[in-house]
Amino acid sequence: MSLKYDFTGKVALITGSSSGIGAATAQLFSKSGANVVVTGRNADAVAKVAKQCTDVSPKQLTALEVVGDLTNEEDCNRLIETTVQTFGKIDILVNNAGAGFLSSIDDTDYMEKFSLIMKTNLNSMVYMTHKCVPYLAKTRGNVINISSIAAKKYFYILSAYCTSKAGVDMFTKCMAAELGPKHHIRVNAILPGYVETNFTNSYELPKEIIDQSIVEMGAKYPVGRIGQSQDIANTVAYLASDTAAGFLTGTCLIADGGDIAANV
Ligand code: NDP
Repeated sequence: MSLKYDFTGKVALITGSSSGIGAATAQLFSKSGANVVVTGRNADAVAKVAKQCTDVSPKQLTALEVVGDLTNEEDCNRLIETTVQTFGKIDILVNNAGAGFLSSIDDTDYMEKFSLIMKTNLNSMVYMTHKCVPYLAKTRGNVINISSIAAKKYFYILSAYCTSKAGVDMFTKCMAAELGPKHHIRVNAILPGYVETNFTNSYELPKEIIDQSIVEMGAKYPVGRIGQSQDIANTVAYLASDTAAGFLTGTCLIADGGDIAANV
């Protein structure tokens, strides 16, 4: 179920919106009246989500499609420039794109995987924020960074991922402190628990194992289920709303169905 927000007249750029949490977030902003930018590397997935956004938009606002790789600075620049050329401004930046690969510190390719994860999850977020600040300053906008409970606790052979997300949390706090007084920009992070998306595809585990883990984790979570993309999209919309969350900045909001509290 999605909540009712009014983002009429706002422009929301959501990275990693071709799938999962980002796609649900783009659809929720679109449904709430915003102009949205849908982006990812997979052109078919970008086009599919963009159409879904346009379909749910009350005024049938056309979602902007930008295909690109965020580990490439030229693609990031093109994403921002196309957004501003099309919609004239940026009000909300959701740094959501992310990846995680299983890798042990003594694997021969550990450093390649570490580097790719840091580039995807942290460097791209830093670069996008750096480049969007002039636009967000004009709109007194806000930034929402998608972190993970992996920033707070150990996960088996996910050290690179955990490290990248801990960086996301610290970056969020620093940006909130710096950009609030200077430009009236709020910056917050969300730390989701286990959410059912395509994210675990990269683990290359058999589908039965993934399905089994969904059931087992859901049973352990205090809320009795694992998360859905809509749960996190609702949290993004809450933080993006100046009416609902105008006093929140520098917050690393845990949205994990009770994972950390119950020590799952
Ligand atoms: P998905 O795999 O469904 O979505 C990931 C998105 O990121 C896709 O749209 C993908 O687009 C995009 N992406 C990945 N790498 C790049 C890149 N180099 N350039 C551009 N886009 C890229 O996973 P989720 O929706 O689950 O993940 C979204 C965020 O939520 C991530 O930051 C993840 O770390 C975080 N998260 C997820 C949890 C979960 O349990 N699912 C738990 C905690 C946090 P494309 O493939 O088209 O390039």
